[in-house]
Amino acid sequence: MRSASMPPAAGTGLEPGFRGVICASFGSTGDTAEQHSGGRPRHDLRFESANPETLSDLRSALGRSHVGVRLVLAGPQSDIRAAAAAAAECGLLEEEVILLSDGMGPSVIYCPHCRITTTVRAASPEVACQGCATTLAITDHFSRRIGAYLGYSAHAEEAS
Ligand SMILES: [Zn+2]
Repeated sequence: MRSASMPPAAGTGLEPGFRGVICASFGSTGDTAEQHSGGRPRHDLRFESANPETLSDLRSALGRSHVGVRLVLAGPQSDIRAAAAAAAECGLLEEEVILLSDGMGPSVIYCPHCRITTTVRAASPEVACQGCATTLAITDHFSRRIGAYLGYSAHAEEAS
């Protein structure tokens, strides 16, 4: 029985106790999240943008899921960051959330060598660190603690 004060997540259609990958995409992003489900059960959510209403839907979807669910967020930076913050409120751990920017907004890349962050405007697999000029490969791991995507030295093996 559903209580009237706790309506089901509008349009999410997510089964209670879902344990799989929830792929939430914002705006006109295509199926970039497709590759990340890795054969696990997958549930797609599509939103126009991150606003109080859609974030509320996302929270209720996450609230129905078991511990162990993975969340993939795809879309413009501002939307997926807002969604990631909502996921954090629901208790999802940083490593349980994958952010896939559609490249339309700037990305902030953290350099593990000099601990300076570099902002890149275009979608690019690599960026030169503003601090130490190391060529950083950009991962899709966003650290909320640092507020940036983690970079790593792209040519570490070649350096001697
Ligand atoms: Zn650096």
